[in-house]
Amino acid sequence: LVELVDVNKHFGELHVLQDINLTVRRGEVLVVIGPSGSGKSTLCRAINRLETIDTGEIRIDGEALPEEGRALARLRSDVGMVFQAFNLFAHKTILENVTLGPTKVRREKSKAAKERALGLLDRVGVKNQAGKMPAQLSGGQQQRVAIARALAMQPKVMLFDEPTSALDPEMINEVLDVMVALAKEGMTMIVVTHEMGFARKAANRVVFMSDGQIVEEAHPEEFFTAPRSERAKDFLSKIL
Ligand code: ATP
Ligand code: MG
Repeated sequence: LVELVDVNKHFGELHVLQDINLTVRRGEVLVVIGPSGSGKSTLCRAINRLETIDTGEIRIDGEALPEEGRALARLRSDVGMVFQAFNLFAHKTILENVTLGPTKVRREKSKAAKERALGLLDRVGVKNQAGKMPAQLSGGQQQRVAIARALAMQPKVMLFDEPTSALDPEMINEVLDVMVALAKEGMTMIVVTHEMGFARKAANRVVFMSDGQIVEEAHPEEFFTAPRSERAKDFLSKIL
C-alpha cells in the first residue's frame, strides 16, 4: 500500500534519508523507532509530501505522489497524519475540527459529515466534548480528536509521529488504546513511537532508523529482545 523505493533527501549537507526502501502492506502496522535526529519525522513528512525528496519514488496504493494540485490534495487525503503536537484548529469546536476536512475537501454534505464525525468522536471516546473548544480538553482528549479528524478523511493509511510524547503519563494509554483498536480493525499504520507496549501489542514489524538509514527491520519481539545491530543495542540500552 505504501512503497518507498531508493528514497534520498538532503537538508543542505545533511543526508537525512539515505536509500530508504520500505514497503507497508495493507493492514500492516509498522513501528519506526530510532534516536533523535535519525530522520523519522522527515520520513513521515515525505510520505505525504509535506517534505520533498531528492531522488527515489514514493507510491501510495500504486500511485506516485504528484507534485502539486488537486491530485496531490486527493492523494494526501489518503494519508491521515497525527503529529506530536495536537494541531487542532484552536478557534473551531471539536465537532468542526472533524467535519471541516470532509466538507471542504471531500465536499460531503454537512449533515452527513456531522453524523460521521459524531460517530468517530464516539469511537475515540470524546463524543460528549463535541461542542467544546480544543483548549478546554486535556492533551489526551485533544490527541484522540486529532485521530478522529484524520479518520474522517477516510484515509488508506494513518501516519503517527510520536503521538504520545507530548502527553502526561496518565494520558498516554488512552491514546495508545485508540491506536491499538484501530490496528486491530485492520487500518494500515506507520507509527513513530518509542512505546514498546504499543509495538508489542500492535506492530507487525519494527524498523530501526539511525543517521538517515534503515539499520534493522524485525518482528517487535525479536527487535526488543535480541536486536542484531550494535546501533540498535546501544539505542535500546538507553531507552529501556
Ligand atoms: P526526533 O526523534 O527528535 O523527532 P527525528 O528522527 O524525527 O528526530 P527529523 O526531525 O526527521 O528527526 O530530523 C532529521 C535531521 O534533519 C535532524 O538532524 C534535523 O535537525 C534535520 N532537519 C529536520 N528538518 C529540517 C529542515 N527543515 N531543515 C534543515 N534540517 C532539518
Ligand atoms: Mg521527529
